[in-house]
Amino acid sequence: MSDFDQQNPSRRTFMKQVIYLTSVVAAGAATLGSTAARAATISKADAHYQDAPKDGNACSQCYYFDNGTCKRGVVDPISPNGYCDYFSPKS
Ligand code: SF4
Repeated sequence: MSDFDQQNPSRRTFMKQVIYLTSVVAAGAATLGSTAARAATISKADAHYQDAPKDGNACSQCYYFDNGTCKRGVVDPISPNGYCDYFSPKS
């Protein structure tokens, strides 16, 4: 601790509060972001989802496929062999 900090404990307290509040805001923003992403669902009908591959493309090869769920928001359940209009190949 510097001489300045020892003489000015309020500065140290203020910096702790700034760091704490920054982490709280960041955590809250991350939570809201993931909630919004999960809340934005797309019906299978709107996505033109089908349980079979199309032209050799399937959910398991799609960028949005994540361990049996669709990160794009097409409602569960989806099949690894499914396909919809939002298909985007993994790079
Ligand atoms: S093809 Fe459609 S339903 Fe399947 S993972 Fe990709 S975006 Fe989701």
